[in-house]
Formats: sequence, structure tokens, C-alpha cells
Amino acid sequence: MTVFLCAKCGAELTPDLRRLAQVPDVSTHDKDRDSVTGLAPSTVPRGAYVIDREPWGAPFVTPEAQDADARAMGTRGSRGPLMPPGMTDMVPRGPQGSVIVHPEDVRGLRPAESLGIHHGCCGPLGTGGPNMACACGAFVATLAADCMGPHELRLHPLRVYAFPAGTPT
Ligand SMILES: [Zn+2]
Ligand SMILES: [Zn+2]
Repeated sequence: MTVFLCAKCGAELTPDLRRLAQVPDVSTHDKDRDSVTGLAPSTVPRGAYVIDREPWGAPFVTPEAQDADARAMGTRGSRGPLMPPGMTDMVPRGPQGSVIVHPEDVRGLRPAESLGIHHGCCGPLGTGGPNMACACGAFVATLAADCMGPHELRLHPLRVYAFPAGTPT
């Protein structure tokens, strides 16, 4: 079991979580979405986390600007967020190793005030970089929670750390 803490202030961000071996395949069928909020089921269930080894999230670059290396690896992100208009062809060059958790397992984060184009029709897309702040002010996580895209919270791999150490490699 693993707890994730804020790298800046040491606050515990999560309860004890168990690690999943693989990023779950999430159904994007409309029938699975919440009938009131339109939210998809969370990528990971309560009490769990999973490490995404693919680059995810901001910054986004054009495919032409992507490194030859990254292209060779086929890194498009395992399952990207819904992209805002004008950015739909871009590919993520955000950090590898983001920690996907259930949004309701992480309490006490404060949403960023203005998301601009990175706000979907009813919730954050998660495409503008970390949009959830720890009580200390550090933006430690990215919430994607629009009715059109995936529903998940991603802890930034460099802005949080795991306890016991070394688990999420
Ligand atoms: Zn903090
Ligand atoms: Zn929406």
C-alpha cells in the first residue's frame, strides 16, 4: 500500500492505495456515463492507483515537432484527454509516470481559478497542465472531468512522492 504526499509541503494527499498493474481500459460508451453529470466512470476505482508510463498532458506539441525517438516509440499517450478546439492534432509531451487515482480519493485540493480553453462544456479537460492545488499552493495534480472525456485525477510525478519510497517506479 502506498500514500502519496505533496513534494513541497509533505501533506498527505491520498489514503493508502493499492497499485494496479496496468492502466485500465475505460469504456467510453455513453451508457456507462453518469445520467446526471455525464461523467465517465473513473479510470481507476476507489482505493487504487496506477502509473502511466506514457507521456501525458501539457505541454502539447505538433506531431512534426515530436522527437524522432518519441515517434519511434509511438508515444501518443496511452489514452489522452479530450482536446480543446484548435489543439486536436497535437500530441502530449507531458511527464511520464503520472499517477492516476480516483478523483474522490484525493480530498482538499483546490481547483485553478480560470482554465480558459482547457475547460470543456461542464468540467476541466486536463489539457492545460496541473489544475488542482495542494493547500500549500503547489499545483500537484490534473483533473479531467468533462462529460465528453475521461474522468480521472493525475498526480504530477515530480510534484508528489510516494511513501513508502520507491514503489512507483
Ligand atoms: Zn503541498
Ligand atoms: Zn461537458
